[in-house]
Amino acid sequence: MIPAAFEYSHATSVEEASKLLDKYGEDAKVLAGGHSLIPLMRLRLAQPKALVDINGIKGLENIEVKGSKLHVGALARHVDINNSHVVKDNLPILAEVAGEVGDNQVRNMGTMGGVVAHADAAGDYPTIALMLDAEVVTNKRTIQAKDFFKDLFTTPLAVNEIVTEVVFPVANGPHKYIKFRRRLFDWAIVGAAAQKMNGGWRIGLTNVGPTPVRAKAVEDALHSGAKVEEAAQHASDGLDPSGDLRASPEYKKHLARVLTRRAIEQAG
Ligand SMILES: Cc1cc2nc3c(=O)[nH]c(=O)nc-3n(C[C@H](O)[C@H](O)[C@H](O)COP(=O)(O)OP(=O)(O)OC[C@H]3O[C@@H](n4cnc5c(N)ncnc54)[C@H](O)[C@@H]3O)c2cc1C
Repeated sequence: MIPAAFEYSHATSVEEASKLLDKYGEDAKVLAGGHSLIPLMRLRLAQPKALVDINGIKGLENIEVKGSKLHVGALARHVDINNSHVVKDNLPILAEVAGEVGDNQVRNMGTMGGVVAHADAAGDYPTIALMLDAEVVTNKRTIQAKDFFKDLFTTPLAVNEIVTEVVFPVANGPHKYIKFRRRLFDWAIVGAAAQKMNGGWRIGLTNVGPTPVRAKAVEDALHSGAKVEEAAQHASDGLDPSGDLRASPEYKKHLARVLTRRAIEQAG
């Protein structure tokens, strides 16, 4: 289908984008890689009256380490995150996750900021952001990942708020992200991430609820000395995933346990 008519503006600075968003208010949407927004517009599930294209804002694609933090600009594309030596050296799990997002076309266009702002339950970066206590930085404030993913497609972003970067802790110890899907380029039916950090484990799950999940019960069990197999059984504690065409709720809970065990075992 063809999207409904909309006005198009091209911003060259965050300030200009913010002013344009102010001007159009609720009717405007930021356009980044367009790989979630444009399909929604074509299906007319989204009908913004104005798009503010932020692709011309210089510096938003930067990826750099400052102290013990990895700063990933909102316009960093999946392909750049996947190929970045800065990411590979400082948060290799993120580089690996980026290489697992969609197909080449999606990875060439889709952005860190777009995935985070879109807050799809099956998005891969939100899981990593949540489990590592990342921060989402906007033109107005810094929001902790645990306060950012409120519900399915729901974040605290105001209409004129632009994600400028996501800040992760540096963590280059044992890690693994496993994405269970039917075809190589599909979204995760369920995903599980394991990262060793500061002597403990961080465990995150994708697509087992409306938001990413941090599997604290697994982390605590591992911390108390439980065997991996035993600890991984806690991955489905408290989960209430919805079923869909690809998996029932019970199957998703089963996958959460199995993939968590595999992720920990294969980490490093
Ligand atoms: C076939 C296909 C397969 C895919 N597979 C996966 C997958 O396996 N895993 C995965 O994680 N993703 C997947 N995606 C989604 C892909 O990663 C998108 O790129 C991503 O969801 C949105 O990023 P974008 O830059 O394209 O954002 P856009 O589509 O431009 O925007 C998405 C939403 O975020 C808002 N937005 C974008 N940037 C900002 C910003 N900086 N500040 C504030 N709001 C902003 C927009 O207004 C819009 O509401 C897939 C997409 C397709 C089409």
